[in-house]
Amino acid sequence: MPPQPSVQRSKPRILTGDTPTSTGLHLGHYVGSLENRLKLQDEYDCYFLIANIHAFTTLADKPADIRANTLGIVKDWLAVGLDPDRSTFVLQSEIPAIAELTFLFAMLIPFNKVMRNPTLKTEIETKGLGETYPFGFPMYAVGQCADILAFRPELVPVGEDQEAHIEMCRDVALKFNQLYCGVGNRVPTDEHAKAGGVFPIPKAKIGRIARLVGTDGKNKMSKSLNNAIFLYDDAKQVQKKINGIKTDRPTMNSPLPDDSALRQYIDAFLPQERAGQIKADYASGKEVMDGHIKAEVGAAINALIEPMRARRATLEGPDGEQKVLDVIKAGIKKANVVAEETLYLAKKAMGLEFGSRALG
Ligand code: ATP
Ligand code: MG
Repeated sequence: MPPQPSVQRSKPRILTGDTPTSTGLHLGHYVGSLENRLKLQDEYDCYFLIANIHAFTTLADKPADIRANTLGIVKDWLAVGLDPDRSTFVLQSEIPAIAELTFLFAMLIPFNKVMRNPTLKTEIETKGLGETYPFGFPMYAVGQCADILAFRPELVPVGEDQEAHIEMCRDVALKFNQLYCGVGNRVPTDEHAKAGGVFPIPKAKIGRIARLVGTDGKNKMSKSLNNAIFLYDDAKQVQKKINGIKTDRPTMNSPLPDDSALRQYIDAFLPQERAGQIKADYASGKEVMDGHIKAEVGAAINALIEPMRARRATLEGPDGEQKVLDVIKAGIKKANVVAEETLYLAKKAMGLEFGSRALG
């Protein structure tokens, strides 16, 4: 029996995810995406994806690291409060429909458009990929369209750096619906599914802080750039990283530069009123000791992540690892039901439904 579109939607869907390029998640993930995931977990049917195949685009020589990072990210998800009973955890490498959709979607995106994608360009530069990155690296942008569309979500909570990717994904969904589902080119994007399109045209939902800068004050906080405060860093490490932030003030009466990471962290992690007060003090020419402000920001970050650290600690050791593996296994099963259904609908629309297969 081919999969039937039997998975009725009682709620709209969310798909978003993280790449296991490091052992865990950082504050940028929290303010950029995790906060929204937590907020929307009940309102939406949520799919959270670990892009472990995409981790091979930059770490092909480190498979053991990718495996450990995958477990680390799931630990962080659980520690933050993502709930595998309410949401579905999706391990990319075990969802064959994603790989198949990637190939199908690759026909709908002009090659030059992929290569002009600003997020890819920034990554090539900041990660120092030079001229030698593999063919699979730009391919991941197409793959990400498949990651998303395999679950036919309405919403994708991400940081600002992902906007270009979501735009590409919207283009693919639009083109697919128009080419293969008879959706007219005047149909508004939010009516595509109603008009017979296989794919709703998903929208990005950018987090409270669209782009949290790293402790280097230059690049976005990133797992791969050695400028991140991780959710599992201990209290001392957090404070040390905050203390290392450059403020570039000639005297204690000088203003705090607009582009200082400290300024953004004051806004992101201190209560609004206190943040306003500190910024006013800096602007007034009063004597302000950066060390005191850094201590306050460090304490606020530690208060935020302490419960997460404590929950993550319970997941260390063999029992914790077994729990994580069980969660991953259960997620794979649930995710394949939906992704297979999508693939079936897509292939049917393309005149490709010649047979069926069963996945255990
Ligand atoms: P890598 O350096 O390997 O690309 P990353 O730190 O960029 O890792 P991703 O797994 O690529 O992390 O991103 C996961 C999600 O977190 C995406 O939605 C991304 O937009 C968001 N995100 C990552 N870093 C930040 C940040 N500094 N500020 C806001 N959102 C972020
Ligand atoms: Mg990234």
